[in-house]
Amino acid sequence: MNLAGKTALVTGSTSGIGLGIAKRLAEAGANLVLNGFGDAEPALAAVRAAGGQVRHHPADMARPKQIAELVAFVESEFGALDILVNNAGIQHVAPVDEFPPERWDSILAINLSSVFHTTRLALPGMRRRGWGRIVNIASVHGLVGSTGKAAYVAAKHGVVGLTKVVALETAQEPITCNAICPGWVLTPLVQQQIDERARADGDLERARHDLLAEKQPSLEFVTPEQLGELTLYLCSDAAAQVRGVAWNIDGGWAAR
Ligand code: NAD
Repeated sequence: MNLAGKTALVTGSTSGIGLGIAKRLAEAGANLVLNGFGDAEPALAAVRAAGGQVRHHPADMARPKQIAELVAFVESEFGALDILVNNAGIQHVAPVDEFPPERWDSILAINLSSVFHTTRLALPGMRRRGWGRIVNIASVHGLVGSTGKAAYVAAKHGVVGLTKVVALETAQEPITCNAICPGWVLTPLVQQQIDERARADGDLERARHDLLAEKQPSLEFVTPEQLGELTLYLCSDAAAQVRGVAWNIDGGWAAR
């Protein structure tokens, strides 16, 4: 797939899955706008090395005004926003009756509402230019539940629902909207959960194994590179009639 001349925005791409996807889209020739917190320089260098032009915008995806500034930035820097990858996300683990309401609000804002805002702002330009791809990084938690993850599971199920609606509203246009539902991927977001499990006995290796064994039958992590390949496929002409799917890539998690 040659994405030369196309511009992609990947939210939450200063680390983890978003960075893996941004690198793969850059290798395919796309211009990239990265977003996310922390020092953006290493991510910018990695995407630059993969090819294409790259910028960073530090919008907080919890804030609609900053999201609007981000989309305007992409369009003013590169003249278009052709590929929108909604990836920014956070996690908090606690039983529902102990779940801090402010964490619920942040998870819903970043993991779900931001997808609504970027989509509503990006669609008019995609329609004007007659081409677009929206790829929402949901989770296997958009398909099934797990204890302790009320806000995350609710938000990710919401992303899968929103994906279907946008796919239906664009069904007769050269614009597609799909969701990817990864199982465990070893990124800072998951390392934090492994560290919490290891706090009791300090055995990180066992914590890693137990985390996988509970949910992911393959006992192997999904990689950001594999998610980059699937995203690239969804951006291709071959995927023009893939619309509104929630595609799990989860080592067999949802098959149980
Ligand atoms: P990560 O913590 O490595 O990266 C998250 C990125 O989002 C970072 O760049 C961070 O700076 C950015 N971010 C966080 N809050 C933000 C905000 N308010 N505004 C802008 N950027 C913000 O996490 P990851 O594991 O790469 O997760 C990426 C996405 O994949 C998330 O939506 C997550 O729910 C989803 N996911 C992850 C896994 C996994 O096992 N890691 C599995 C399924 C789905």
